[in-house]
Amino acid sequence: MRYSRFFILLLPAAALAAFLFWRFGAAGEESVVRRQFLMGTLVEITVPAAPSGTADAVDRAFAEMRRVEELMRPDGPGSEAAAITAAEGPIEVGSETAEVIALGMKVARLSGGGFDMGLGRLKTLWGIETEHPRVPKPEEILSALEGTGPEDLMTDGNRVLKSDPRLAVDLGAIAKGFAIDRAAEILRNSGVTRAVVNAGGDLCVIGDRGDRPWRIGIQHPRDPGALLATLSLENVSVVTSGDYERFFEAQGQRYHHLFDPRTGYPAGLAQSMTVVAPSAALADALATAAFVLGPEQGLALLKEFSQVEGLLVAADGTIFISEGLREKVEWP
Ligand code: ADP
Ligand code: MG
Repeated sequence: MRYSRFFILLLPAAALAAFLFWRFGAAGEESVVRRQFLMGTLVEITVPAAPSGTADAVDRAFAEMRRVEELMRPDGPGSEAAAITAAEGPIEVGSETAEVIALGMKVARLSGGGFDMGLGRLKTLWGIETEHPRVPKPEEILSALEGTGPEDLMTDGNRVLKSDPRLAVDLGAIAKGFAIDRAAEILRNSGVTRAVVNAGGDLCVIGDRGDRPWRIGIQHPRDPGALLATLSLENVSVVTSGDYERFFEAQGQRYHHLFDPRTGYPAGLAQSMTVVAPSAALADALATAAFVLGPEQGLALLKEFSQVEGLLVAADGTIFISEGLREKVEWP
């Protein structure tokens, strides 16, 4: 098979399986591959032809991801997101959390509120990632949306202010991307020039794969295990949001975890949205935002950013792909 070498199959976070197939190049090249369960998914860091000291750098990259997870999870004693939720007024946070919120607010504004980090109460109400998800009553949804909107958080340096004291912060659509960025930065600073940080299909590739780009497979949203497309890319992050990742069914309806903040119900315009961007945090936020906005507004949103491309599968299965990605994609 022509493509069986350097192949990454993107998987939904829920599948957790590491379908990363590698065969490393020339004899004598030592590669480092490490896996840890982090941020609700299996994270795999791969450094082919690793320079000495790489194993230590990989350990530090994982430790950093764990630190980011602690800071940005919705609850827990070390969580700054939880501290913001609990705060009644402005609160000082670390530079990482402030940076993530500032970036998320930019996406929130440019998406007209399609992206919203203030949906914590709504998420709890639906219980989507719990053992007992349910379809809430319309009045419960309206009440959970009170105080949310495209301006619901503000940053001023490291200070964060909620527009409504009831706002519950949920960084679930951006924190994983930021953690990937931090891991990649540690690897780069340690002299690693080629690597993949793959968090359950959301990933950053450092450098290229030697004399060729990395080949990144994107999962088909309706055919688990099948490929929708393969992207050939270098030095970039690729993040996918899909309605097949986390969902439950009730009365024959599928309810997934990507909410349209304007209605409080799961967004219905897309099956999946893959974003390619210079940073994984940006790709993560934009994947969620463009998924919610759907083909027209979603792809228009990506155009607001430089070096950002995307591939969207609409609700009816139609594929939309941005201009700059067309020469980098292959169909199965
Ligand atoms: P995943 O992390 O599951 O791969 P996403 O990056 O798209 O997928 O993040 C989904 C999570 O983001 C949800 O579980 C929820 O916590 C949060 N979320 C849901 N809808 C939105 C939205 N419209 N804007 C911002 N965050 C959202
Ligand atoms: Mg996201």
